Amino acid sequence: MNLKLIEKTLASRPKFRLTQAQKAIFKELVSDWSQVTVFPKELRDKLNIVCPITIDSRVYVSLDGRTVKALLTMQDDENIETVLMKHKERNTICVSTQVGCPLNCSFCATGKMGFKRNLEIGEIVEQVLFFGRYLKAKKEKVTNIVFMGMGEPFLNYDNVLGAIRYLNQKDGFNLGARHISISTSGIPDKIRKFAKEDIEVNLALSLHSADDSTRTKLMPVNKAYPLQRVLDALTYYQDKTHRKIMFEYIMIAGINDSEADARKLIELTKKYTCLINLIPYNSSQNSIYKVSTTERIAKFKKILESARVNVLQRFSYGRDIDAACGQLANKAHKKNRELQTDPK
Ligand code: SF4
Repeated sequence: MNLKLIEKTLASRPKFRLTQAQKAIFKELVSDWSQVTVFPKELRDKLNIVCPITIDSRVYVSLDGRTVKALLTMQDDENIETVLMKHKERNTICVSTQVGCPLNCSFCATGKMGFKRNLEIGEIVEQVLFFGRYLKAKKEKVTNIVFMGMGEPFLNYDNVLGAIRYLNQKDGFNLGARHISISTSGIPDKIRKFAKEDIEVNLALSLHSADDSTRTKLMPVNKAYPLQRVLDALTYYQDKTHRKIMFEYIMIAGINDSEADARKLIELTKKYTCLINLIPYNSSQNSIYKVSTTERIAKFKKILESARVNVLQRFSYGRDIDAACGQLANKAHKKNRELQTDPK
């Protein structure tokens, strides 16, 4: 979906046409211009040809119905993933920001795809609209958005912020900024830049280890931006915004789940107003890592709690539908490659 092209196409029409288009896209959540009956037929037809709003998708629902994953195909045939996680009173959409990712974290399926390109503003927004339409059919709504899908959001900074403006503004999707979170692997200059934005979006850091050597093994980006540089940027962010920081911590057996790891984590996070989110690792068949045992996670959590750290353990979503970041798109990517190289 190309939002700028829609605006350009309507620029020669009376101003109210753009307002009607925005209402149709973001409030009525229409999936085709032909549903916008306030437009003359000639305009509907033109928009359907020049800037269609249909979304090419395949949907996968987990057995327990709590996770819905969509594989969206962009106009250049690249695939991206977006995930709906259903909680009791929340419908959270996990949004992708890049096709693939250049950061190559060793636990991540997206990293193995390599980096293809940044997503455009409209391609980011349409992931939320996709589930907005999906939930509307069930008389439900999107309540939260996390930028935690494929890609590093701060390496596509301008488009991510551009998409957030559409998602947040009143005549756009109108979701409160406090219901939107960006999760970064830790790009210090972008964390500082983000601290100065006039928008109250939450920030999460994918930490995963409180020591540099383990973190570098898990996340090669830690070599370029070691923990201390990232933490300095976080201190700047918190001094400036006074907002709580979320630390994401994937629990991986034998790598980052010992008692000593828990103590290092307490030490590292104690100066921040923060919440630590423990996420059981969602492994795929080819993964070199295994998820920590339930007992190990419980023990780790208890150590944090005894130190009065705010900690949450996230439910692991959609193992049966490859819901971890990049698993599904990676499969589609491989399949596309096989089809392209298949001589038959
Ligand atoms: S975990 Fe995030 S930053 Fe790391 S490779 Fe995967 S998508 Fe990129």
